[in-house]
Amino acid sequence: MVIVMSPKASEEQVQAVIEKISEHELDVHRSTGKSRTILGVIGTRIEIDPRDMELIEGVSEVIRVTEPYKLASATWQPEPTILDIQGVKIGGGHFVVMAGPCSVESEEQIQAIAGIVSKAGARILRGGAFKPRTSPYSFQGLGENGLRMLQDAADAHGLLTVTEVMDASQIDLVGRYADILQVGARNMHNFALRKGLGRAGLRVFLKRGMSATIREWLQAAEYILAGGNKQVMLCERGIRTFEDYTRNTMDISAIPVVHKLSHLPIIADPSHGTGRRDKVPPMARAALAAGADGLMIEVHNDPEHAQSDGAQSLFPGQFQMLMREVTQIAPLVHREL
Ligand code: PEP
Ligand code: MN
Repeated sequence: MVIVMSPKASEEQVQAVIEKISEHELDVHRSTGKSRTILGVIGTRIEIDPRDMELIEGVSEVIRVTEPYKLASATWQPEPTILDIQGVKIGGGHFVVMAGPCSVESEEQIQAIAGIVSKAGARILRGGAFKPRTSPYSFQGLGENGLRMLQDAADAHGLLTVTEVMDASQIDLVGRYADILQVGARNMHNFALRKGLGRAGLRVFLKRGMSATIREWLQAAEYILAGGNKQVMLCERGIRTFEDYTRNTMDISAIPVVHKLSHLPIIADPSHGTGRRDKVPPMARAALAAGADGLMIEVHNDPEHAQSDGAQSLFPGQFQMLMREVTQIAPLVHREL
């Protein structure tokens, strides 16, 4: 952090700022120019609220020079994080496709879809057992039975699993069944969940909150990393904007931005990003071309009768076609499937 004093600031005012910084056990580098004094705060261990500094008499401007997230930043770790889940690698040039229904609905449904996506080249089976539905009257998921069905279907087809955990009290339960625990967009700000996942040391798939800035999203990841858990992936799933033609606005630009700011892998979810099945393949191709480390795609064997998110779920044939395209694009952008 750099504190620029006003040209009229007195020596007492400069000293008051230095004292304030020293209270936080941080060092100060002072540079006295012809017209004004500039103070550089050294040390990143403690976060100072810039507003506290701005309010001190004689301070003209406070400029933040480091990110408010440290462990998640590319400054802290320049080389990309690569997750290795039973031989399936994600990040640092390794590209993975996660696919499956929005919700696990029945044994037959999840078995059929697992077969379809695995044959087409996906490595990870998705499917919600605990569903964060906007309406309390909508299908809420099959709970533990759904987790069991997801795991059985994945085992039968050589896939790994990712599924949502909605609450800190569910971490143990979901962690017993799933390889990767998803934090949904509505839960990105759930502090108890973030902290619990940091302690649990299970792999986390952290979706971007629908109104979260990239900085807030990386700060959410920081909570999990700060708990000692390094196995974190991010997921761009569209943000809320003034546009209402699509369900959300798929923020493709977040992909290169995250790659610049952070070492964590970033997966793109164009299903929730657009909310419309016909818009999913073009956005998936765009996300891969923009450098995503993977895709999460909703696929259903009978989308028209899906219990949730049918309109954005691909038909099996569409998914197979998308996988063929992904296989062709990946090498052009240095991604290995
Ligand atoms: C989901 O993956 O089905 C889901 C509910 O996603 P999001 O949290 O991104 O809305
Ligand atoms: Mn869904």
